[in-house]
Amino acid sequence: MTNQNQEPSSIPAVGRRGFLAGVGALAAVGSAPVAYATPRAAAPGRSIHYGAVLHFLADPGAKPNPDTWQLFDPGALVVGADGHVEWAGPEGEIPPELGDGTPVDHRGQLIVPGFVDTHLHASQVDVIASFGEQLLEWLEKYVFPAEKAFAAGDHAQLVSSLFLDTLLASGTTTAMVHPTVHKTSVDALFEEARKRSMRILSGKVLMDREPYAPPDLKDPSVEQAEADTRELIGRWHNKDRLTYSITPRFAPTSTEALLQMVGRVYQEFPDLWLQTHAAENKEEVETVRELFGGRSYIDVYDRYGMLGGRSLYAHSIYIDDQDRTRLAQTGSTIAFCPTSNLFLGSGLFDLDAARGAGVRVGLGTDVGGGTSYSLLVTLNEAYKVLALQQQKLSALRGFYLATLGGAEALHFEDRIGNFQPRKEADFVVLDWAATPVLKRRTEVAKDFQERLFALMTLGDERAIRATYVLGQLRYDRGQGIASP
Ligand SMILES: [Zn+2]
Repeated sequence: MTNQNQEPSSIPAVGRRGFLAGVGALAAVGSAPVAYATPRAAAPGRSIHYGAVLHFLADPGAKPNPDTWQLFDPGALVVGADGHVEWAGPEGEIPPELGDGTPVDHRGQLIVPGFVDTHLHASQVDVIASFGEQLLEWLEKYVFPAEKAFAAGDHAQLVSSLFLDTLLASGTTTAMVHPTVHKTSVDALFEEARKRSMRILSGKVLMDREPYAPPDLKDPSVEQAEADTRELIGRWHNKDRLTYSITPRFAPTSTEALLQMVGRVYQEFPDLWLQTHAAENKEEVETVRELFGGRSYIDVYDRYGMLGGRSLYAHSIYIDDQDRTRLAQTGSTIAFCPTSNLFLGSGLFDLDAARGAGVRVGLGTDVGGGTSYSLLVTLNEAYKVLALQQQKLSALRGFYLATLGGAEALHFEDRIGNFQPRKEADFVVLDWAATPVLKRRTEVAKDFQERLFALMTLGDERAIRATYVLGQLRYDRGQGIASP
């Protein structure tokens, strides 16, 4: 493993629609000159992506364990015609039987697995950056009015399309998403995700308790909520890369009967997901105590059979050791959403305590409470949230959380998250020189980890040079979004 601090190689621009025949710079691999295709080259067969390649085999921990990550620089990632990883390793050691692919030049840039965003809201594209409230007032003042618009199918389609393209431009290829209570919002999101071959987990939001759920966003009955959920499971669950996730918004908008139904349906399907929010804000925690009693907020969900592998509790800031033990025992996941927790003044998530107890933790942008779709920005803020608690987030652990850690949080580590053979080839090409400040800082860095920390701290959407989904180019910074 070496770090050569190379200058980024330029990738020639080609016409927006003329990419199939585009052939870029000539460069030497071994002794023979090779004609590299541009990133737009959507070769029908195998492709070989040249660049520095970084991926993780496990959580590097607070003090990075060198056995948990691999850096190949110069490296190569070989992607089969079926969009799966065939091989990743040093550039000079590509197995001869895999050497006949179309070469694609990302040299001087960093190839990492596609980012995994474990919590955000497709319905809040129009809500991000809304001023001045904490959770419960913010929902009432900004979120619910925006969500009402999703009753209209054309609005849902338009916003879902923009939402997913924004994820791709941020390097995110897998996401766990809240839409709205409307079936149209689920249909639109999944239809658009399917066009882009993205791995998306989602499901109709369930709300039936006034005054926390407004009357015009309420499920008319638990029976209707269950019928709608079952209809959508039948339509979308396990179709291509889509996974249905039963989605009660959170305890305050739910009656006991609704949570009972949620727990029952969740337990009925062995591979169904469940997502909700928990213990984000002190006032919310107090409200749940008044409404449901019980030992704790997590305990309320536990009471209804909602904990388990494939269940996710966004935020989980105000929890205790007993809650953490229970979340770990059941294989439940927490989504750590630092930009949202800071923006809404919610509080500081204790990562060390959660990981120490063995809880699966993924990163979430939580837009629109969160302030950026970029997991690089999210990592930058995560570092600060942890610093305020005398914890340290290394760049290696940060990139693990954004890739394999997210995959593990969603129990998809057998399919995505790193470049082991047969994994789905979702990956991102990162540009060390995306801005003058980032370029300078990474040029003067002494070693790879220092460079990576600069990228984590200074990087944002501008550092995403290209995003590939199942081996296909879906976003190119120079050319924009590839038509789905
Ligand atoms: Zn949320």
